[in-house]
Order: sequence, then C-alpha cells, then structure tokens
Amino acid sequence: MRDAENVTVRLADYQPPTYSIDDIALVFSLDADATLVAARSQVRRRGEAVAPLALDGKRLDLQSISIDGVVLDGSAYSVDPEKLIIHAPPANFRLELVTRISPAANTALEGLYMSSNRFCTQCEAEGFRAITYFLDRPDVLARYAVRIEADKANYPTLLSNGNLTESGDMEGGRHYAIWVDPHPKPSYLFALCAGKYESIHDQFATKSGRNVALGIYVDPGDGERARYAMDSLKRAMKWDEDTFKREYDLDLFNIVAVRDFNFGAMENKGLNVFNSSLILADAETATDADFEAIEAVVGHEYFHNWTGNRITCRDWFQLCLKEGLTVFREQEFCADQRSRPVQRIKDVKRLRARQFGEDAGPLAHPVRPSSYQKIDNFYTATVYEKGGEVIRMLKRIVGEDAFARGMQLYFERRDGTASTVEDFIACFAESSGQDLSQFMRWYEQAGTPAVKSRGRYDEKTGLYELTVSQHIAPTPGQAKKTPPPIPLWLSFIAKDGARIAAKLEGDTISRIEHHLVLVNEETTFRFNDVLEAPIPALLHSFSAPVTLDDGLSIEERLAQMAHDPDPFTRWEAGQAIAREIMLSDAKAHAPALAIALGRELDRAQEDPAFAALALRLPDLNELILASPSPDPEKLHAARESLRKTIAAAHRVRLEAIAGAPGELPFSPSADAAGRRALKSAALDLLASLGAEAAGVFSDAYQNATSMTEAAAALDALGQSNSEAFDDALEQFYQRWRENPLVIDKWFAVQAASPRRDALARVRRLREHPDFNIRNPNRVRALAASFAMRNPRAFHAADGSGYRFLADLAQAIDPLNPALAARLLTPFESWKRFDEQRQQHAKSALEQLKALPELSKNTREVVERTLA
Ligand SMILES: [Zn+2]
Repeated sequence: MRDAENVTVRLADYQPPTYSIDDIALVFSLDADATLVAARSQVRRRGEAVAPLALDGKRLDLQSISIDGVVLDGSAYSVDPEKLIIHAPPANFRLELVTRISPAANTALEGLYMSSNRFCTQCEAEGFRAITYFLDRPDVLARYAVRIEADKANYPTLLSNGNLTESGDMEGGRHYAIWVDPHPKPSYLFALCAGKYESIHDQFATKSGRNVALGIYVDPGDGERARYAMDSLKRAMKWDEDTFKREYDLDLFNIVAVRDFNFGAMENKGLNVFNSSLILADAETATDADFEAIEAVVGHEYFHNWTGNRITCRDWFQLCLKEGLTVFREQEFCADQRSRPVQRIKDVKRLRARQFGEDAGPLAHPVRPSSYQKIDNFYTATVYEKGGEVIRMLKRIVGEDAFARGMQLYFERRDGTASTVEDFIACFAESSGQDLSQFMRWYEQAGTPAVKSRGRYDEKTGLYELTVSQHIAPTPGQAKKTPPPIPLWLSFIAKDGARIAAKLEGDTISRIEHHLVLVNEETTFRFNDVLEAPIPALLHSFSAPVTLDDGLSIEERLAQMAHDPDPFTRWEAGQAIAREIMLSDAKAHAPALAIALGRELDRAQEDPAFAALALRLPDLNELILASPSPDPEKLHAARESLRKTIAAAHRVRLEAIAGAPGELPFSPSADAAGRRALKSAALDLLASLGAEAAGVFSDAYQNATSMTEAAAALDALGQSNSEAFDDALEQFYQRWRENPLVIDKWFAVQAASPRRDALARVRRLREHPDFNIRNPNRVRALAASFAMRNPRAFHAADGSGYRFLADLAQAIDPLNPALAARLLTPFESWKRFDEQRQQHAKSALEQLKALPELSKNTREVVERTLA
C-alpha cells in the first residue's frame, strides 16, 4: 500500500484533543499470522458541542465496532486502514473495537511484530495505531488493563506494563495473563512481549520500603550474560533516589531483550524493551564500550520513568523534554559511576561526531523542531545530545542550587501531566528568579554557535581585555539568528603553568575561576590585577556546545596540555594542535605534539583512560567538518602522517603497552577498562606504521583475553594493510559464527577498515549468507560502519560509496522505512565536497526520490537532504 501524501505537521497548529480516553481494556488473542485485538475504551468528550471522533490506525482490519454495547450502524462511522471516524458519538461512552493484525507480516518493527518467534511491540512514536484504532498522541493519558491469551507451549511467558494481577490456563492448550498498570500513560508507552525466554531475577528495596521484583528476559542460554545489565539497573535505581529523590512506583520492573529492534531501547512503563546488544555482555563477547553502553542505556530507560513516563510530552515537538533531560541524567549517572572528566570528554566527542555535522548540514533543526512529516526522523543527535547539553547549560546558568530546586518543582508540579518545554523552563525561572526567555533560543534555533575570542594584555596596568563574540550561520528555514546565552567557564594560566587570579570588572575580589555568560553578539570582559600574560581557557568541562576560535599559539596550547587544571582543556589543547597540523599542513609542529603526548604516556598510570583519549587524534569526519573544502584523500594522508610521527617517536613504549598480557580475571570496572583503552589506543597508533607492525597486532589478537583486546587488534590489522587481517577474520568468524552480536562486530570491523578494497569488501559482505536485511543490528553493522566510520571509502571520488548506501536503503525501504531513512543521514555532508562528489551524491539521492513507492520516512529525509 502506498503511503498517503506527505503532510507537514506544525507545532504552531497544536490543538488539545477533542476527546479523552481515561481507561482502556485490551484483550490480545495472540497468533503470529492473525492476532485479534479487542479494545474497550471509556471515551469522554472534552467540549460542549457534538464533534466527530477521529481515531488513528495503520494497516488495520476492523472486525467489529459498538458503542455502549450496541453494534454501530455502518452509516455512523467511516473507516479505512489509517483512520476510523465516528461521526456524532455521545458525550460519554464505552467504545468496543475488534481489529485483526498480522504480526508475522510486520517487517517495519513498529506496532506488534515477531522477533525470533516471540511477540514484541514498539509503539513510540506512532506504533500503537498499528495495534488498534486509538487517539494515538502523547497528550491522551489512559489507565491500561491488558489480557494476553496465547498458546502455552510456544509462548509460556506473557508480559505487559504494570503489575500482574491474574494468570491461568485456558482450553486448547492456551493460557492467559492479566496486567494492570495503575499509572495513566500515553499509548506510546504500551508494551507487550510473549514467548520463550530465559530470565534472571533480583530485587530492589526503595527508600520508602517498596520491594520491587526485577526481571530481565533474554533468549534461552543468554541469562548469565544479562548480569551486568541487572547490576546497572540496581545502581541506576539507587542513584536516582540519591541524586534526584526519585523512587520507583510499581512492584515490578521488567526488561526484555529483543534481537530485531529499530532503536537502542524503549522505556515502556514497567516493561522496558531493549535491543539485545544493550543487554548482553561478558568478557569474551563484549567490549568495554559495550559494557559502558549497557550501563548508560539501562540507566537512561530507567530514568525515563520520571522524565518521560510520569511527566510526558504534550506533543512530539516536545521530544527533547524527555530525551534531552534524560540524556543529561544518564550522562551524570555515568560520570558518577566512572571518571567524570573521561565521561565528559567522551560525551563531547559523541556530540561533535554526530551533532555538529547535523547542525552544519541540510538536516539541521532546532532542539525543538517546529515542523515534521515523520516524527521518526527526529530521533536525532540534535534532540538527544544537544538537548542534553542544553540542560547542562541551564544548570550552569541558574547554578547548582536553583537547578536542584527547579527539578524538584518540576517533578511535583508536572507529575501526571503531558508537558511542554515552557512548563519545564518555568520551574527554573521560578527557582532562580531569573528571566530565562533568552535561554529559549537554545530550543528554537538550529546551528552550532561559533565563538571567537581574542585577548589583549597590558603589562603596565595589569589589565587583560578579553573580547568574545558569537555567530550562528544560517540553517534551512532560519536565515537570521539571535544570540543565545552562552555559559563560559573561564580561567587563566601563565606560560609556566601557574594559575593566574584576576579581578573581573565590577567584582570585588580576584578569582581563579570565572563563571560568565555571553548574552550579546560581542562582549569585552575586563580583568584587573593580572600579574602576567595569561593563557585563557574559556570552556572548562566544555561549558557550552559551541565551536571556539581562541587564536592561541601552538606554544600556548602546549602549555595548556601540560598544565591546565581542567582535564577537558588539557585534552582539547592536544586535539586543537593536531587539527591545526592536519588541516593547515603545519607539519613543523608535529614533533612538539609527539613530545607532549609522550608526557601523557609518562603519566598514563594515573589515569590511563584519559591518556587513551589524548592519544587518539581527531578522526577523519571531524577534519572533513572543519575543512572549508574537504578532500578526504588528502586529509586521510595528513592524519596518517601525523599518527606515524607520533607512533615512531614512542614506538618502543607503545609496543610494550600493546603487548602487555591481558588482566585476568576480567573486570568490567572503569579502572580495568581504562587500562584496556590505553592498550587499544596504542594498537591504533601503531597501525599507522603499516604492515611492518603487523606482528604486534597478530600477537595482540592471538593473546587477547577479552573482546576489547581482540576487537582492538582486529581493528589495527584492518588499518595496517597486512594480509594477517584476513587470517584473523576467518578465525574470528569460525569461533563466533553462532553468536549474532559478535558477528555484528565482524561485519563492522571490515566495513570500517580504511583499506583500498573497502567497497569490494562491503559488497561481498552484503551477499554473505549471514547478512540479513531484516535485522537492524546487522544492517547497521555493515552500512552505518561503512558510511560513518569509513569516510574515505564512503566519499570515494567515483561515487561508488554513495551508490552502495543508496542501493541498500532502497532495498530496505519497503520492509522497514524507519531504518532505511536513518541509514541515509551520512549524506548530510554532501554539499561540503567538490563538484564531482556532489554530482554523484545528488544522483544517488535522486534515484531514491524518483521511486514512486518510496516511504514517507525516507522521502522526507531524501527531500530535506537534497533541498
Ligand atoms: Zn530516551
């Protein structure tokens, strides 16, 4: 069936619903090919006048309809698979619907579908309408009671939201379970899972004494690999009580892991559904990055119980209200569990890698978009990562105390409601007494502010003047911008590293740390009593999501690298030097950077995770984004040349680190992970030496005692042009062929390998028997790894990389439109390149645009990218 005409939905057009549904009772008679869904809703008109009731649907087959027990006459309603309109219903009534759906035929993975012979749902954003006709919008909150009936032998476990109130056997080998969720919720938080699982169980006692039974349901045989997820869940529950005074509110909390899932995980009330890649981990099969991601995402989905579920979004434009805030909470949780500075640097790296490019291209949109065609296309780095940064800035601007009070005010005042960003910000205006209207610009304007600063020091008077300006380039639909308030956390050091105190004009005392806010396009901050020429650092802990041109010399940056008290500033100084060398061919400075990085190796014992981050140079995508006319080949060569200089300078020490035996027994702790991260960074740098270092990588691969070490060695082999890469790949495949999550890594490491034969490899992999176009994890392992982690091959001058991605998206689109649309986001940078590449990218996108049956999701992304 063809999708309806693309309709643009606008924030400005928001209208409250004409009807409310306060209670809904659902009965699912589960069958893979034909599931019957009986829905009994209590419907209430909100206005005085008689009005039609329009319910959303998707691919639905209506079997029966009645109002207050009376079958409805055909003239009283109109119905098609996408809409059910009851022309003039009473003001208050019971609506009973029966629809028939086919979970086995549902390849889009939204609504009710099958994964590995188990039933599973995904309803955010608009999947509930593929289950029954409903007011499928987040501002309609109902209490749900769900009865699930299914064949007992095939589907022994039946799960839904809330508490289990009853279960039992039925005739014909079937059984049932009844779940009641006492908390009113929007339909996107509905969930149902049924099938054969192995489960692990634990419990958590809340501060006020509620005993919560915790369960994680996974594929049979995988139970032990869910232990770390369970441990993360308990830590998250405790942390939210300690940090935000939030307690859990049901007697049960269940997580189900699913192999075929479009997202990372979903926060359905009391029944989180997770991509199995974010639940299953052990030393042999998961990397430290996997462990970290599990901790982060388990925390994230749990934290949604308050920021998302109890307080939900009025409409989908407010997505950042739950996502940005929950990303912030997740990052704070991880920072408290691990090293705060290391966490901060990783968050900044992710923001720059995913969000800055989005902000600079045709898909740029504000943290709160003002229009969309498919909301599925707005689960973006801007809404999530920049949305999280906006909360962090809010905290910096109002201060810790007012932020904490504002959060509690928000939890108390908005509990049980569908809210807006304005409702949220009002709590902080009240708690801080500040006018936050200018702050709203962070939600309303797209684009990354470019901050420029220049200092002038007068030795005679001790006056230091720092002029700081900001500018946001035009983005689609927003030609003119107004300055948002930018928090600057500033301090000074001298050339020898000593901290310099200074008295800000108007301040009464000298300080070594200054918390400023740039509210205008340009401001000159004046500091008195400055005893020597200062080196300023403006963005301690990356205090705002901006780019910074501070005009510092290489010598000044080297001083920051060695001495600045702020770890982010030390790391950033090294990155900035490396960027300058690679982008402007300032090779003369390479040896100085190598020496400075040697000092990081000297002190690597103190914080190996930090040293590992320092040793990793800005990646090719970052250089492409920073270059006015990027040539991927040239940039790759410049990067390899600098890496080689550094690797050659420290070869002996790097080889010693890379060759150190693995630690046994394995611990996923931050300390142990930090030591492995240093080892991986050493292997990565040595890879720049090419095949001559291949022996080190082969040894590292053979001696690996954890997946982190094995994957790092494989990655280095993939970069080194050594033939040993294929031998190791074959060995890896034979060992892990039965484990899909590990085989995803096998696909990914090949797709990301920057060898000359990259495209031929990904083409072969697409034909591999283990490639499955219906499994999002496998598709992303191949396509996203290629397009996002292998920019030289993706942006090949002959357009072959572009064609590969467009062809794959075209094949996936009829099956899974949301996945196909997301795969295309790497095209967002196409206009930055030369004429030839632009032509190739454009023709690949136009080939998609010309398809008459292209889904609404993919069409929106293609058209916006081309515009
Ligand atoms: Zn979320």
